[in-house]
This record gives sequence, C-alpha cells and structure tokens, in this order.
Amino acid sequence: MDYEGLRALHQLLRQRADLEEQLARCPRTLHAARLKSEQLEKAVEEAKTAWQKCQKDVDSKQLTLRQRETRIKQMQERRNSCDSNKEFQLLSEQIEADLKANSVLEDEILEMIERAEQLHEDVKHARDAAAEGKQRFQMIQKEVEAKAAEMKAKIASLTERIRAGEKLFVGEQLQSYLRRIEANSADALAETDGQSCGNCHTLITTQILSELRQRKPVSCKSCGAILYMPAASTATAGDA
Ligand SMILES: [Zn+2]
Repeated sequence: MDYEGLRALHQLLRQRADLEEQLARCPRTLHAARLKSEQLEKAVEEAKTAWQKCQKDVDSKQLTLRQRETRIKQMQERRNSCDSNKEFQLLSEQIEADLKANSVLEDEILEMIERAEQLHEDVKHARDAAAEGKQRFQMIQKEVEAKAAEMKAKIASLTERIRAGEKLFVGEQLQSYLRRIEANSADALAETDGQSCGNCHTLITTQILSELRQRKPVSCKSCGAILYMPAASTATAGDA
C-alpha cells in the first residue's frame, strides 16, 4: 500500500472537510447580519409609533384647550348680560376654574411638545442606525458571498485532487472507503503510530502492526478507518 499516497490523500480530505465546515457557517453569518438589520428597521417603526402617539396626544389636548377657551368666552358673555348676582357669582367661579384648568393644560401641552420633539429626534437616529445596519448587512453579504465562492472553488479543486488520490484504492477497500467518506469524510483515513488508531484511539493488534510494517492495506477493526503509518516509521520499516 502506498502510505505516502494515503497520507497525502488524508491531508486533502482534512483540508476539504475544514473548508466545508467554514462554508456551512456562511449562511449563519448572513442570517445573523440580516436579523440585526431587521431589528434596527423594527426600532424605526417603534420610534415612529411612539412619536405619532405623542403627537396625537398633543393634538387632542390642544383641542380640549380650545374647546374650553370657547366655553370661557361664552360664559364671559353670559356673565356680562346676566342680571342675577347669584348667576354672576356662579359664572365667575366656573370661568375661574376653567382658566385654571387651561393654564395647567397649557403647561402639559408645552411639555408634550418638547417630548414629541425628542421622540422625533429618536426617529431620526433610529433611521440613521437602520440605514447603517442595512449598509453593513449588504457589505457582509458581499463579503460572505465572495468568500463562499472562493471556498467552493477551493473545494472543487481539492475534490479533483482527492479523486486522483483515490485511485490508490481498489476492490473491497475502495467500497469501504467510499462508504466511510460519505459518512464522515476525513475520518475515512487514520494515521497510526503503530500503537493505536489515530481516529478512534483503539489499540492496534500485533497482527495489524505486522501488516502495517509490510505496507499492506489495513483498516482499524474498531472504527473501520483505513490506516497508514507516519513517514518516519514507514522509512524504518522499509529499511528493516
Ligand atoms: Zn479506529
């Protein structure tokens, strides 16, 4: 068995598995960036709703203020033309109370107008943040897409080299390799120091060690990985 070939193939398989893992992370990165952008958009809507509600409250309080002003005017006219002392007194008290209420309301309205202005500022800030978030997302999207394309190209080129390397296998070993590669890619092969399997760490029997030294095609009895010896030991084994 060409252990050097197996070692080279194993390295290629690991490189590809690593790239595939990175590639699988790309959609997650994109999803997180999209979510963030959507949250910022939602914040704009929330800020807008708060501002509009405050604005509406201002309008409604201003309406109350004007209605009360009209009523005060009407009462003042009635007071001017009334001829009963009691009615005059009553109207004066009502006018006094309404004037007081309107004075309080005016303060409230002023405060609310200030609050509405602040909320309007908040809307502007939220819009800026959302625009920035959208830009960031688009940038990340571009980056991720470019990176993914690059990784796919690398994976394709590695796959070609892997195909060529797989010519090492024939017959039953090829079938076993193909089954394993489908299940867990890079773990189809395992390096062994002659003591245990580099994949599952099961101890190697003397029988297998002897076969390894003869460079025979050997699989781990426990995990099924196709075994190969590291460069140093095969060199010594070859000399022996
Ligand atoms: Zn094993």
